Amino acid sequence: MRRIEIFDTTLRDGEQSPGVALNSDEKLQIARQLAKLGVNVLEAGFPISSPGDFQGVRRIAQEVRTLSVAALARANAKDIECAWDAISVGESPRIHTFLATSPIHMLYKLQKSPEEVLELAIQAVRLAKLKVGDVEFSAEDASRSEVDFLAKVFSGVIKAGATVLNIPDTVGYATPEEYAAFLRAVMERTTGIEKVKVSVHCHNDLGLAVANSLAAVGVGVHQLECTVNGIGERAGNAALEELVMALHTRRDQYDVDTSIVTTEIARTSQLVSRLSGMVIQHNKAIVGKNAFAHESGIHQDGMLKDRSTYEIMLPSDIGIDAETIVLGKHSGRHAVHQRLTDLGLDLGESQFEEVFSQFKILADRKREVTTADLFSLVDLKTETEDQIRLDYMQVSSGTHLTPTATVGLLYNGQRLEDATCGDGPVDAAFKAIDKVLGTEGKLMHYSLQAIDGGEDAQGEVTVTVKFGDNMVGGRGVSTDIIEASVLGYLQAVNRAFDRGWIKIIEKNAS
Ligand SMILES: [Zn+2]
Repeated sequence: MRRIEIFDTTLRDGEQSPGVALNSDEKLQIARQLAKLGVNVLEAGFPISSPGDFQGVRRIAQEVRTLSVAALARANAKDIECAWDAISVGESPRIHTFLATSPIHMLYKLQKSPEEVLELAIQAVRLAKLKVGDVEFSAEDASRSEVDFLAKVFSGVIKAGATVLNIPDTVGYATPEEYAAFLRAVMERTTGIEKVKVSVHCHNDLGLAVANSLAAVGVGVHQLECTVNGIGERAGNAALEELVMALHTRRDQYDVDTSIVTTEIARTSQLVSRLSGMVIQHNKAIVGKNAFAHESGIHQDGMLKDRSTYEIMLPSDIGIDAETIVLGKHSGRHAVHQRLTDLGLDLGESQFEEVFSQFKILADRKREVTTADLFSLVDLKTETEDQIRLDYMQVSSGTHLTPTATVGLLYNGQRLEDATCGDGPVDAAFKAIDKVLGTEGKLMHYSLQAIDGGEDAQGEVTVTVKFGDNMVGGRGVSTDIIEASVLGYLQAVNRAFDRGWIKIIEKNAS
């Protein structure tokens, strides 16, 4: 059976989703999980876009060595040098350079003639090829480009040394039948096409990203670009889990397979959702909360008689365990350790002790500690030591009350405290933190989700905060949502402080 390669761009295109800001620890954590998931190529970022992105890509290239790590670069020398600097430490690096080829993009965005674009594309690939053997060239907005021109550009870059040609539907405009015919025409007219891999990258503006990618499989492409949970620019990219499970479940139709370990899908999806703050809609295919829930009596009756009546996949195919071992306040060190090991979370001794003490605190506040709760405890422990910590908080709000918050923080061996009011309890608490520290954060994005259901579920808050010109993300988890919000905000403050983006004015020491 033919094997198709999965090129994951969660950390590049996905990270460009509005409201998403991952730090380099979080990116590395996702990259490690993508390696476990079995993706073939991991696009780690766009190094020229910021020093933070550069560092993030470099760290991934250095530490994740079982797959190919790609970095994006526009078709110019500066971008290509920078991308190469970031990934050259990797095991099998790939430079991914791109240039628009559609009449609209060439005329309005690039303001270049087709001849100039052809020349620039060839030069870029030639330059990248001097650095590394594996060079991918993307024709941005390919699906709205003219077939003959595109074939000419592709023939040129193949001669210059490109190893992968990407034919993206950048704006999500294509339909499956049309896209398949277009790909066929371009491939037929490109000289040397048999020497390279062909890739597609589809956006979901019309909800057709997965359908278009599957149509491309029928044409014989070699690589599919996608993101976990389908996150990405605007309506996002083709969802990795949907593509993989469609190919897996309907092998009879597509006759290809992938190297994806499908039982890692649920875990990867949850990790990306948690760290990115992009909540998964309940009815999302494959990984939504309801994807395997059968509500109606007729369906439940059928399921009890035989699962195959209404179920085309099993939850266990994507790594959802049927039986959940319940952990609670009476669970001991051994049970918790065993559960973490079963989940593939091998912690060092001191890290385990920290997680276990957090577990005890949580188990006092919550009847059942679920798998998702355990993951959230472990995630939080991967953070570096915070300089500014929460000592206490007190918030009051009500129907006819002005919300007021008092916050005590520990910094530099001292307790700093102050109080203020706000538009709501969360706003008041954030303002109180800013007042204590003398900082001025602007909240750009706030999301709250429950970790597993139930009335005593933990709330997880993800925030993106702007300090001056810099955006930074933070996450907090607690059974109290105001406390979760405060912890999330404080994490953002700590990260901004670590990077020297804010200074703390100590004035209210007590
Ligand atoms: Zn894209």
